[in-house]
Amino acid sequence: MIKAIVAGAAGRMGQRIIHCIQQNSEIALGGAFERPDHPSVNADAGHVAGVGELGVPIAGSLGEVVDQGEVLIDFTAPGATLENIRAASPRGLAMVIGTTGITGDVLKEVETLAAGIRCVLAANMSVGVNVMFKIAGQMARILGGDYDVEILETHHRMKKDAPSGTAVRLGQVLAGALGRDLEKVGVYERKGIIGERTDEEIGIQSLRAGDITGEHMVLFGGVGERLELTHRSHNRDNFARGAVRAALWVVQQPKGLYDMQDVLGLK
Ligand code: NAD
Repeated sequence: MIKAIVAGAAGRMGQRIIHCIQQNSEIALGGAFERPDHPSVNADAGHVAGVGELGVPIAGSLGEVVDQGEVLIDFTAPGATLENIRAASPRGLAMVIGTTGITGDVLKEVETLAAGIRCVLAANMSVGVNVMFKIAGQMARILGGDYDVEILETHHRMKKDAPSGTAVRLGQVLAGALGRDLEKVGVYERKGIIGERTDEEIGIQSLRAGDITGEHMVLFGGVGERLELTHRSHNRDNFARGAVRAALWVVQQPKGLYDMQDVLGLK
């Protein structure tokens, strides 16, 4: 049985991660924390996550709980993740980082510190999406240049960025498999008399509506047939379950920086 510490314990992902930990007999919640000014500080982490009392109060900093687990699961914000890995690395605490939007110098420092501990860093922890990354590349290689490749992603109306990071990653995988450069062949908008589609282009289109958690579809359009590969998230539990799977896996590994393809043995 391993013990996990959950950062951002009152957040949308933090709550679902605590829920998934409760459902898994191989892992227990050792500690939980939030930003110091969060109204849930001192509340029971189980109550906040809706799983009943766990006897684990939400602390106001990592420092208060850093000795209460072997692995820290962090779905917070880039600045918070950087602070957390700075505190975790001298103690050899393993980490699973799902925070997105980590870029530039912050990403460089996170990656450097992560390589010195056991760490999984992945912008999409869904098992299904990571299998999709692998399979989409294989499909593109098998089908080759005779099939037009298009990506369609659909998300809820609150999503601020487009296309989704997952759609961009799919585009990179598909372009790589076909020997193309997504920077040159990606087409993100079509309107007006734009002429025929080129063979090389990879369309990435975004729809935004209602409360849709997230859908990604790769369309391979051939002559007389088409093939579609689709992933649909029903809720956030596919990410939370992937994070718990990554936590159980990473504590058994040598020091190093890993991603979900490593966790799932897909490399
Ligand atoms: P959220 O805003 O609901 O939760 C984030 C939580 O982190 C909040 O409760 C916030 O108070 C807390 N927090 C902020 N600063 C903190 C600090 N210094 N110390 C401790 N806690 C702190 O957001 P969310 O929807 O749960 O998403 C969190 C992150 O996870 C985002 O970056 C999101 O894009 C990412 N995410 C990743 C995946 C994946 O599969 N990798 C899936 C879903 C979301």
